[in-house]
Formats: sequence, C-alpha cells, structure tokens
Amino acid sequence: MNPYSERPWVKLYTPGQPADLTPGFGDALAIFRAAAGRAAEKPAVQYFDATLSYGDVDRDSDALAAALGRRGFRAGDRLAIYLQNVPDFVIAMLAAWKAGGIAVPVNPMNRERELGILLADARPAALVCHDTLHRDVVANLDEAGRALVPETVIVTSPADWQRRNDPRLFRDVQPVDRPGTERMQALLARHRGEAPVQAAAPKSGDTAFLVYTSGTTGLPKGAMNTHGNLAFNAQIYRDWCGLTEGVGVLGVAPLFHITGLVGHILAAFITASPLALAFRFDPGVMLDAAQERRPGFTVAAITALMAMMNHPDATAGHLESLKTIYSGGAPIPPAVVEQFRAKFGHYIHNIYGLTETSSPTHATPLGREAPVDPNSGALSVGVPISGAEVWIAAEDGSAAPVGEAGEIVSSGPMVVPGYWNKPAETAASMKPDGFRTGDVAFMDEAGWFYLTDRKKDMINAAGYKVWPREVEDVLYTHPAVREAAVVGVRDDYRGETVKAAVSLKAGAKLEPADLIAWCKPRMAAYKYPRQVVILPELPKTPTGKILRRELRDG
Ligand code: AMP
Repeated sequence: MNPYSERPWVKLYTPGQPADLTPGFGDALAIFRAAAGRAAEKPAVQYFDATLSYGDVDRDSDALAAALGRRGFRAGDRLAIYLQNVPDFVIAMLAAWKAGGIAVPVNPMNRERELGILLADARPAALVCHDTLHRDVVANLDEAGRALVPETVIVTSPADWQRRNDPRLFRDVQPVDRPGTERMQALLARHRGEAPVQAAAPKSGDTAFLVYTSGTTGLPKGAMNTHGNLAFNAQIYRDWCGLTEGVGVLGVAPLFHITGLVGHILAAFITASPLALAFRFDPGVMLDAAQERRPGFTVAAITALMAMMNHPDATAGHLESLKTIYSGGAPIPPAVVEQFRAKFGHYIHNIYGLTETSSPTHATPLGREAPVDPNSGALSVGVPISGAEVWIAAEDGSAAPVGEAGEIVSSGPMVVPGYWNKPAETAASMKPDGFRTGDVAFMDEAGWFYLTDRKKDMINAAGYKVWPREVEDVLYTHPAVREAAVVGVRDDYRGETVKAAVSLKAGAKLEPADLIAWCKPRMAAYKYPRQVVILPELPKTPTGKILRRELRDG
C-alpha cells in the first residue's frame, strides 16, 4: 500500500490548519494591492533610517511601471533585478507585474560570466541594478554579453533612500554616474503621478518570476514561478507561521532567492507588514535592525542565524520582538537549535522546499518541535504543508515503505509548471506523478520527513547552491588543467564548502593558489573552490568516470 496517499502527517498539523487550502488570492499583485488598499499609511519597507509606506511603494511602482511602458516594456517582457536587499527591489518587482511583465531576480554576487548566461536566457527588456554592479560587472561583459544588455538600464545607489550610510556595509556610497543609464531616483521623481499603465491583471497561471537555479548540466534554468504558485505559498507562510496583520518581517535572506521573494516580500504583503531590509547580510547590522524595527517573524538559512547568535554583541534583547523563526535552505544541526534557544529564547522551526516549489513543501507545524532521527542525527524538515502531495520514490520508481529512503517527489499548487525555454529539462524533472526534487529522504510512522542525502551532486554552502559541473567548466578553461572534479566537503561554518581536484597537462606547473585566483573573478564568491588539490591522476572507474565520492572522502 502507498503510505503517502493517506497523508498521515495531517494529524500533526496545528489545530485549525486544513489538509487542503483554498488561496484567498489568485495572483501576487492582488496581494499587494489589497495591502495598499487597507494599509496605505502603514510601513511597507524599512531600510536603515528610511520607511516607505504601502502608499509610497504603490505610487513608486506605478511610476516605474509607467516609465518602463514609455520605454517599450510590454506584457510578457522580463525585467532583470540585479540588486541587494534594497527598497528598489520591491518597487521594481511590482512595477514589472503592473506593466504585465515578469520579474527576473539576479543574484548580486554574480559576475560577468554568470550574468551573461542569464541575460542570454531571460532576454530582459530592462535591467535595474546597483550603479556599482554596473561599473564592476555590466560594463565589463564581453562583446556577446554587452549585446544582450537591454537599452533601458536603471541604476540605484545604496545611498538612495537612506541617510545612515552604515560603515559596516558601505565604504563609499556616493552615487556613481554611469553612462547609458538612468538613475532610479530621478526616474521615479519624473514619473510620479503619471497615469498608471493599463496592463491586464495577472492570471494565476502567468509567470511572475524567473528564478534561476543551476543543475547537473551546469547551465542555470529559470524556474517559472507563477502568480498562483506565489499566492498559494504566501498564504502558507501566513497561516503556517501564524503571521498576524502588521507583524513585521526581518529580511535576513537575500531577496533574489525564493525564500526572500516568498518568505519575506510576499509574507509581508499578505499581512500588510513592514519588511525590514538591510542591503546585504551582516550579522551585527541585522541584529541592530531587529532591535530597532521590532519584527515578529523571519525565515533564513541556518548559517545566517548562527552568525547572529555568535556575534560578540548579540544579546537576547536583540531578537526579543520575534515571535516565530523558521529556517530552511540547508540542513540544521540540532545542537544549533538548542544553542539558539538558550541564547535568544526562540525555537527554530525547520522548513523545506526548493526554488521549483516556490519555497516550502514541508514545514514544522507551529507549536510543535521537529523530532531528530536517532540513527542519522538529522533534524526532521517537517511535514508536508496543506495542499502538498508528497511521496518518496524508491529506486524502482515505486512508493518507498515507511522508514525507507528514496527521492522526494512533490506536487501541488506551489510547484512550478516548468523551466523557461527548457522543455527537455522540464520534462526530465516535472513528471506526471510529481516533481523530482533530487533530495533523498524518508518518512517516519507519524509522517515526519528527514533528509538523509542528495541524489544530485549539488553542494550546499550556507544555503547557496553550487553545482560541481559549473565550477569544473571554469577550471577546464585554465590552460594547464587536464582533468577537474569538484565536490562538497564538510565545513563547520558553511555546512559544506567547495573542493576541487585537478590533474595537469604534461609539463604544466600550477599551484593551488593560482587556480583559486583563476576561479575567483569568474564566479560568485560562494562558488569558487576553497580547497584545491593537484593530483597526478583523478580516481576513475574502469569505464573512465571520475569517482567524486572518493575525492569527497579522501
Ligand atoms: P533552492 O532551490 O536554492 O531553494 O535549494 C533547494 C535545496 O535546498 C533542496 O533541494 C535541499 O537540498 C536544500 N534544502 C532546502 N531546505 C532544506 C532544509 N530545511 N534542510 C536541508 N536542506 C534543505
């Protein structure tokens, strides 16, 4: 018998939580409009000493949508948002939707090579980025990349909106003038009050975001998170995390990641709450923001919560206002949950999902504590949320018995319909009987799920995902490298970190430090190998396949 069809986990739900959930909104823009309608004067975005109300954000996203429309942006067009956690991110995302388009968040750590690949796939009609990223990355794209930069480029500075200029984050915050770009602040000033664009309201099946994730092929794929996906999981955050109207969300996770998009921006909108943003994550700055803005909720990778806990100035008072804390994206060591509770008095609830599931498919029900598997020591990632259909596929494709590990297969209103422009990759993972997550787990009798391994070779460095193939591709561009293999190895702080093993061409000489220096400018900082070993030969099977596992253990 299939032990999953009975959904044994439903009896673990917090009282009042339905087995299936009917979303109150059909699209993510409607969630914002409802908040702007009932809470126009209430804070929507807090950024150092600045506060933008829901009315302000509504007006400015109208202005940007109008500006985009005048520059030829049409329904279905993509707006690339290459920003840290700044108010402009939220404004740009809404403007894209108001203009009938799709928002494409781009990791601000991406370098030229990575940005070029995204531009080639998403083909944005406009780009919003930091002036410094324009200077340091966009302007340095190779010829092919430069040809893909849209005509409309809008730049912002971290000095926009706020006057505090926190020295822990900002060394030089003078706005930088960039040729061929327009400044966001000037543009908003010019278009405020202009007639709003007349794009049709988004439909539930319309793509709201392309969120890029990599994969075994090394080429990033844009997961098409629809408005319906987002409206569903925004409500899950509200109902499952017990978020009340105006609760306040602390923006610890990066907004370009699905956790930030759904667990921060949309969780704030659906409760008409302020979202506290602080550029990029700095533990001391984040603690101060929590103390100053007094949010009630956050969700973040465990490494960020650990960094806050271990900050020398951290006191229980810093996180006193928080009522609920969730953590997802990477395995949570159970000992850290206890240390965090001892320090701040808060229990960290595990939550699990992927970009392709628009954030959670599993969570620890509020009021419960996730059990720890006595054999592996793994903390349960929770139980399938309302409306999630989840089962564990054994090697032969059948449903694995209770307690036996296999691949998590998920379906439900939070699962994306596919990847942008990638029918083959879509068909390979979005099967009729569910989305293949690549995560290996088992379910216990009660219905709790435990991740035990990964089918995919992905490295999880503090919640940032690194795909060996991508790093290997860059290693192979070095003229001295004959063979390269990249694996994840244990790291006390990041959970896992990136290790490369290479062999060299005959007569070539190379030091590990040279290879690290080669990789650094060619990829986001979390991806480059932290350890490099140079071997005469890489371990291989008799058929010539490189044995990653041996490299990992050796
Ligand atoms: P992303 O698409 O960046 O959100 O990454 C999704 C992957 O992160 C999943 O496939 C898991 O491998 C991992 N992950 C997400 N949540 C958790 C969690 N709570 N515990 C352990 N790993 C997680």
